Amino acid sequence: MDTEKPVSLSVFFPAYNEEANIENSVAEAEMILKKLGIVYEIIIVNDGSRDKTAVIADRLAAENDCIKVVHHHPNRGYGAALWSGIQAARYQYVFFTDADLQFDLSELAILMHFVPEYKVVLGYRAPRRDPFLRLLNAKAWNFLNRFLFGLKVKDIDCAFKLMDRELVASLPIKTRGAMMTAEMLIRLQRRKVVFKEIPVSHFPRVEGEATGAKPEVILRAFKELWVLFKGRLGAIGRRQLVRFAAVGVANTLIDLGLYYVLTRTVPFFSVHMFVAKALSFLTGTVFSFFVNRIWTFKKQTPLKTAELIRFYLSVGVALLINLLSLSFFTKVLHLYDLIGVIGATVVTFVWNFIASKLWVYAESVPIKRPRFFKRRRNLN
Ligand code: UDP
Ligand code: MG
Repeated sequence: MDTEKPVSLSVFFPAYNEEANIENSVAEAEMILKKLGIVYEIIIVNDGSRDKTAVIADRLAAENDCIKVVHHHPNRGYGAALWSGIQAARYQYVFFTDADLQFDLSELAILMHFVPEYKVVLGYRAPRRDPFLRLLNAKAWNFLNRFLFGLKVKDIDCAFKLMDRELVASLPIKTRGAMMTAEMLIRLQRRKVVFKEIPVSHFPRVEGEATGAKPEVILRAFKELWVLFKGRLGAIGRRQLVRFAAVGVANTLIDLGLYYVLTRTVPFFSVHMFVAKALSFLTGTVFSFFVNRIWTFKKQTPLKTAELIRFYLSVGVALLINLLSLSFFTKVLHLYDLIGVIGATVVTFVWNFIASKLWVYAESVPIKRPRFFKRRRNLN
């Protein structure tokens, strides 16, 4: 293993309309890098800025051999800017941060302590100085990535990351919007790369305009998240869980909707409501049985009666679990009705999913035949 301290580092800044910040960012970086005493280059990725960022960046590069510029025409998005920076970098390690002066670049020295022991060193903002809504968004985004991809990092989008350049450049990263950093980390985690996470300072943006909360940026991030989740990157178990939940919602809507329509439009059912309920229940469950079989669990074997029997047995148990947990939550724990209903739904859902995955749709259910039967068969 390479245990030598790194001798060279590429630092890059993605920059979109940062005319008020870029020069200071680069100057700060250069000061720190000189102090570190290593070979370095600074790359400005001008992501199709409409202000004077391009002109300033070109001037800085003309004045200093250690500074390079990559231009995008037009704007391509944060992830695309990161990817261009990674591609343009030439040295052993690559460090990137934002060009908006929201970080203290001298803390790069702390991150450098951890290479080459770690190939990836990630900052996390402690605390993060952004508007409340941004903090809330980030919490949800981190949770979603943890849930869908099993990504375990404290702060996915903290723009203070130091990495082995060859490692990160070899990742087949597809997304080019705000999902890019998440994808990068997910792919690294899949390769069993261990992250070192370090708290870093964070400051409010003073000049220029933040782009991270723009609706089109968020929409694109969600689209990219969905594409990745559907592809090979999404954990299969999680994909099944999400599909199963969607089918569950559809099932409930079919059941309630059909019951409502039948009892309100057909006189017979408005008298015999129980029959209407039975019909709607059956329609909902038959729907969910087949959709889960084909779509959620991708079963391709021919349908067997045993599977249907197992399904309705598990539904029976689910009804029982639902009633029992509901009365437990409301009568024993004295929770509010609504909370009781939500709790009972969650418990029932968990049962349904586990029973479906491990039993109802299981490829082969091993049945232990009692010895008695075996012997008889052998005798024949
Ligand atoms: N940025 C970019 N392309 C874009 C949007 C932003 O290169 O399409 C740069 C921007 O100049 C900054 C960094 O990416 O250096 C982070 O952007 P911003 O500060 O707007 O994001 P936020 O801090 O709001 O998440
Ligand atoms: Mg910012």
